[in-house]
Amino acid sequence: MSETTALPSSTHVPDGLEDVADQVAAQLPDTRAWLEDLVRIPSISVSPDHVDQVRASAERTAERLRDAGLEDVQLLELEGAHPYVTGSWLHAGPDAPTVLLYAHHDVQPVGTPDRWGSEPFTPTERDGRLFGRGAADDKAGIMAHVAAIRAWLTARGTLPVNVKVIIEGEEEIGSPHLGAFLERYAELLQADVIVLTDLVNWKLGWPGLTTTLRGMADATITVRSLEQPVHSGMWGGAVPDALTATTRLLASLHHDDGSIAVAGFADDVRPMSDDERAQVAALGEDPDEIRHEVRMLDGVRFVGDPDRTLLERMWAQPTITPTGMDVPSVSDASNTLLARVDTKLSCRLAPGQDPDRAMEALAQHLRDHTPWGVHVEVALGERNPAWVMEPGGAAWDAAIDAMAAAYGRDPAILGCGGSIPFVGPFSDAFGGAPCLLVGIEDPASNAHGEDESLHLEDFVKACLTEAFLLGGLAGSAATGGEG
Ligand SMILES: [Zn+2]
Repeated sequence: MSETTALPSSTHVPDGLEDVADQVAAQLPDTRAWLEDLVRIPSISVSPDHVDQVRASAERTAERLRDAGLEDVQLLELEGAHPYVTGSWLHAGPDAPTVLLYAHHDVQPVGTPDRWGSEPFTPTERDGRLFGRGAADDKAGIMAHVAAIRAWLTARGTLPVNVKVIIEGEEEIGSPHLGAFLERYAELLQADVIVLTDLVNWKLGWPGLTTTLRGMADATITVRSLEQPVHSGMWGGAVPDALTATTRLLASLHHDDGSIAVAGFADDVRPMSDDERAQVAALGEDPDEIRHEVRMLDGVRFVGDPDRTLLERMWAQPTITPTGMDVPSVSDASNTLLARVDTKLSCRLAPGQDPDRAMEALAQHLRDHTPWGVHVEVALGERNPAWVMEPGGAAWDAAIDAMAAAYGRDPAILGCGGSIPFVGPFSDAFGGAPCLLVGIEDPASNAHGEDESLHLEDFVKACLTEAFLLGGLAGSAATGGEG
């Protein structure tokens, strides 16, 4: 091994991959600069005002895939969808497996600008972390793919496996065009193994491999009590207003302990297996640490079924959460009885739950619990089921080995409360191809919140993980991943 490279001290380079590891290290200045360059583009997919920026981010991503040495790099377009970016390198031979590398280039809105310690789209280093919207979720994921591919091609002029890359542009809005996209492009993206770098590690310096994802669904409730707002002094006390009715309706969704009170909603949730419970127990859940990580205020208590651990509640149980409401603001409030209130409900769905069945149960509950005869309409939105993989198989083992080498410790086996709609449909389309969900964030990254950041040394380990993983997957035959 070269004496001159600045690899993290915990990294143990696998025998025979010294040259590739050295290239990852040598290219870090470029990797970092390219990441910052991507973070400067505000690719907020939910915002109609940022359509051009999401496209700019796709184009810049395509440039980097070309810089990495990929071929056939192009934007994949679908009517009305933000562009996806793809590229490939398919010269490892027919006996080598084909690996599909996934990340996404769109980002969440910035939230409250004052709560950022630096400008969200001006990447800024503080205390070993790079702050900026998308710095971790998921532009770091893109750059881990770029760094690994480029290191191999620079060191060897070849890759150990066939590689396809897909960088999505609508992940943060629930991938509404995924079905149509899959229909048109599945053949182009066909692969034996899928690697996603859009997940969270267990702790700083302690990598994570994720085996379950919750699904996601949403609904919009419209409550109406009057044809128009009326004077609260003249009529209040006898005539119901839509906001009081809505708050009673929302209060009916949960028991006093915060667990879900909707009949039937969680009936088909798959219970955690004994193995999964043992894995969770081995993580040593620390409620105080969770409080600290999410910055819960003093005196605020956890919610949910008290007979389940916090991690089980967050990974393997569903949620129903109001996330927005159309009502007058406090400064615009007048003395009127409101005639109409619209509320957005966001649900996370647990493994086992049938999204259609669960959301119908929710809609029925809302119709049954609306007080005083006020009118309620429920519009159900996008929904995706949870995803579960069975650990094991050659690809799984290769991922464990790669992470152990890069981080100097075995990965934690994790569930994830979040959702990546891409995973299930693509794995199914490729005959149940194994999906390796590899961590890139750490719990302090605050993805989706203010002051999102990437830990720079762990990012190096993530790039090394992927470089080692490509090598490890070469040993797993094309069919070696099922399990
Ligand atoms: Zn993400």
